[in-house]
Amino acid sequence: MSFTSLGRLLAAAAVGLCLAVFGSAAEAKPAYQTTEVAPGLYSFGAGMAFNAFMITDGGVIVMDSFDADFAKASLEAIRKLTDKPIKYLVYSHNHYDHISGGAVFKAEGATVLSHQATADWLKSHPSPDVVMPDRTWSGAKSELKLGGKEIDLLYFGANHGEGMTVFRFPKEHAIYTVDLVVPKRVAFTYMPDFSPREWERTLAEMERLDFDKVMYAHNAPFGPRSSVADQLKYLQDLRAAILAELKKGTPFMKVPDTVKLPQYETWDGYEEWLPMNAWRVLLEIAMGV
Ligand SMILES: [Zn+2]
Repeated sequence: MSFTSLGRLLAAAAVGLCLAVFGSAAEAKPAYQTTEVAPGLYSFGAGMAFNAFMITDGGVIVMDSFDADFAKASLEAIRKLTDKPIKYLVYSHNHYDHISGGAVFKAEGATVLSHQATADWLKSHPSPDVVMPDRTWSGAKSELKLGGKEIDLLYFGANHGEGMTVFRFPKEHAIYTVDLVVPKRVAFTYMPDFSPREWERTLAEMERLDFDKVMYAHNAPFGPRSSVADQLKYLQDLRAAILAELKKGTPFMKVPDTVKLPQYETWDGYEEWLPMNAWRVLLEIAMGV
């Protein structure tokens, strides 16, 4: 090994160490923030994890718990605003990374609620970190009312995970949508457990709802209504670009690395995840699923 290559190796190790140190420091103290999106309606979290909660005269409704540490921090944030009881913890869908740590709210007396499809999946795929729902709802819509406030629980069918619930707050003109809209980011890696076509259909149906603000689970606490259309447009542009490559005769295996969408260059994950996104949609085009 030459001095030059040893030097490069040490420099790389030093960078790696710094990243590791910063990474663990960031993990130890996430800069969690509570954001009031509308009177009584809050987003809580930081960076890659935001849940939602609503304070009513009859108690608090929490949507998603992420993990035990997040749930504890979320409960602390709620307790800074109210000492009303936590009445409900509502799951958005079945994925462990969004609904672990529910025991924190269950211990406060919360009723854990999910769509029936979420509960069915959890029954056959239990996790020690996930509290089973106490109650379920089924069909396309259910109204959760508490202390003079209301949340519409909406199910659009298959799109991502099982029993994916979009929360609509009619009086607050807002929705909380988990994983289906992530602002200014391409889709996550290989779009795990997404059906891209059904995702597009769902976003088009969501656009018909009445709301002004969109609360997210990733990247930002909330943003404008237009972020739903932006997410849909990205998926449509990706599909169109893949179909154009196939039409041009680009070899199937080369399509994902050939597709470019320069209009999304500034979005998070563009360089690394665009080819992965393209693989997922290409396989759906080829296989039907
Ligand atoms: Zn998910």
